[in-house]
Amino acid sequence: MAKVGQIFHPLYLKHDTGPGHPERPDRLIAIQEHLKASGLAERVVSLAARKGTHQEIALVHELDYIQAVARTAGGRGTYLDGDTFASPDSFDAALWAAGGLLVAVDQVIDGEVDHAFAMVRPPGHHAERDHAMGFCLFNNVGIAAEYLVKHHGFKRVAVVDFDVHHGNATQHMFYDREDIFYFSTHRYPFFPGTGAAHERGTGAGAGYNLNIPMNAGCGDQEYLQVFANQLIPALRDYAPDFILVSAGFDSHFLDPLGGMKVSDSGFAKMSQELEKVAQEFCGGKSVYTLEGGYDLKGLAGSVEKVLSMLLQQ
Ligand SMILES: [Zn+2]
Repeated sequence: MAKVGQIFHPLYLKHDTGPGHPERPDRLIAIQEHLKASGLAERVVSLAARKGTHQEIALVHELDYIQAVARTAGGRGTYLDGDTFASPDSFDAALWAAGGLLVAVDQVIDGEVDHAFAMVRPPGHHAERDHAMGFCLFNNVGIAAEYLVKHHGFKRVAVVDFDVHHGNATQHMFYDREDIFYFSTHRYPFFPGTGAAHERGTGAGAGYNLNIPMNAGCGDQEYLQVFANQLIPALRDYAPDFILVSAGFDSHFLDPLGGMKVSDSGFAKMSQELEKVAQEFCGGKSVYTLEGGYDLKGLAGSVEKVLSMLLQQ
């Protein structure tokens, strides 16, 4: 039985996106309540989150942008882009979200836990170096990937993103790098518009970016086929020394935005394939961070299945 850590902090609920917004605090409440009701909460280790420092955020974001988000703190609420709202506590929540993921990374590296799942919001993979986008303020997974390289000395970090949307910002941040390889399955064409198969990286990063665009309506079978035939072989060829997962659950069949048909256990099966690679190349270590997923039942049920699978690794 593996030791699995989870990150959660009440501040994540204070990022208030306003009435009717799909990326809402209830998402994390639904996950926490479901983990308690299913008995899983007692089987995972709750790790104490911390606040990310400005230097850590600056690993991937420009100072002007960090300051712009900082200026929203305590204010009346500001739209940073058409669908990304910063409430008075959003800056703080975003710092704690990034910091929470870094705790997950550190605890896994220190061997306190074998795997960790950061249940954070706001999510991150659309947040570019210099602007907010698509419900995302700071790119949590991008910060963690750069932290693994700069702070811990990892040389081959794989970021696997199975959110229904392409992680435009994560791709852009590491597009010319071979030490951070971005892999993504996503609906295409779809928001945010990037993620074509021919986007393979540039310069030293040529070949170190892999997009697998998918048609609307794909379910477990299509996803598992894509994993088996394309994603996993490429991931094994890369031989990563650490795997970060941008875990978005908006390809769930109940999701109001995604238009895909993945089941709760489909997410666990995809993740299990990633874990086989983690066993082979990364000493069994992996860290997951929450991205999208907007149906509360689908989200909570899927997270439960992924955590149960991780406990069995
Ligand atoms: Zn998404």
